[in-house]
Amino acid sequence: MAGNVTDRLDRPLRDLRISLTDRCNFRCTYCMPKALFGVSHQFMPRRELLSFEEIERLARLFVQLGVRKLRLTGGEPLIRRDIEDLVAMLSAIDGVEDISLTTNASLLTLDKAKALRAAGLRRITVSLDGIDDDTFRAMNDVGFPVAKVLQGIDNAAEAGLTPIKINMVVQRGVNEHDILPMAEHFRGSGHIVRFIEYMDVGNSNGWRLDEVMPSREVAELIGSRWPIEPVEPNYRGEVADRWRYRDGAGEIGVISSVSQPFCGDCSRARLSAEGKLYTCLFASRGHELRDRMRAGAGDDELLAYLRGIWSRRSDRYSELRTHETKPIDSRKIEMSYIGG
Ligand code: SAM
Ligand code: SF4
Ligand code: SF4
Repeated sequence: MAGNVTDRLDRPLRDLRISLTDRCNFRCTYCMPKALFGVSHQFMPRRELLSFEEIERLARLFVQLGVRKLRLTGGEPLIRRDIEDLVAMLSAIDGVEDISLTTNASLLTLDKAKALRAAGLRRITVSLDGIDDDTFRAMNDVGFPVAKVLQGIDNAAEAGLTPIKINMVVQRGVNEHDILPMAEHFRGSGHIVRFIEYMDVGNSNGWRLDEVMPSREVAELIGSRWPIEPVEPNYRGEVADRWRYRDGAGEIGVISSVSQPFCGDCSRARLSAEGKLYTCLFASRGHELRDRMRAGAGDDELLAYLRGIWSRRSDRYSELRTHETKPIDSRKIEMSYIGG
């Protein structure tokens, strides 16, 4: 049953993003707006979440179908207790070449960073939407200070989780004034800031095309202050366009999910915290895996099921949306549920 699988558009299955929880201690206005994720919001009960053993089993099966890279995300993945134990279990799987973690870094103490590194985590991506404290506090909407995220980044660096990628979602009129200060702050640090176009994920963030600042503009703005030149992609299907400062102060990236979609090379599957498989960030429906496992499905049965799902896949939402001025009208899953 093992062997690589490709979808209807001949795209292999290479990456698996695993959401560990739908909970988060931030309420980023574009991701978990308080109006929808308030005190009365019902998060998933613990028993609904995949256990570490179930995640490890699925990851092992995905590797048999071609997956080489795993990314842990959420919600906020560091909310999940003993996450380093999961990292150790995943690192032990033959065929996994890369494990990374996307986090808001609010819970990234030095001890946690060291434990993650010791368990086999190599890389980390920290989300930070502004370097100006007022802007950042307003965007995370729980008043969380920039300084504490910077401390988390320092902890990750000290633990050797380098180079660190720092993701900034750019929203026109909200944090675009912070692009140059952000670039300036991290120039020469060895960390790579990546500026991401604000996407129309989910149904709750009230996305409008005029709030998207195209990556081309971001690169022009930075290049007009510090000259930059393009860098070759690391591998086919890399989502960020890479640029380096001509003066040697390091590298930045821009991710043009809206203005230049990259569906043609998309080899990513997403596993929700409750064990549903999504073949596109914008999918409206997931494929149930947890209950199949809990009902006693064997590895061969699960492999056949996964292979069937991927071989029927034809998603290319972002390419289709490019021809629209507003999101395509459908019921989509939320980013905090599926993890970006
Ligand atoms: N809580 C973790 C964090 O913030 O890094 C992991 C989960 S979060 C959903 C993953 C990434 O998705 C973050 O970098 C976040 O900024 C990004 N994201 C969420 N909503 C987005 C949107 N509408 N457009 C673009 N990126 C988005
Ligand atoms: Fe939480 Fe990350 Fe969403 Fe912000 S982007 S609300 S930190 S899950
Ligand atoms: Fe992949 Fe779907 Fe995003 Fe296209 S829209 S790049 S298919 S996740």
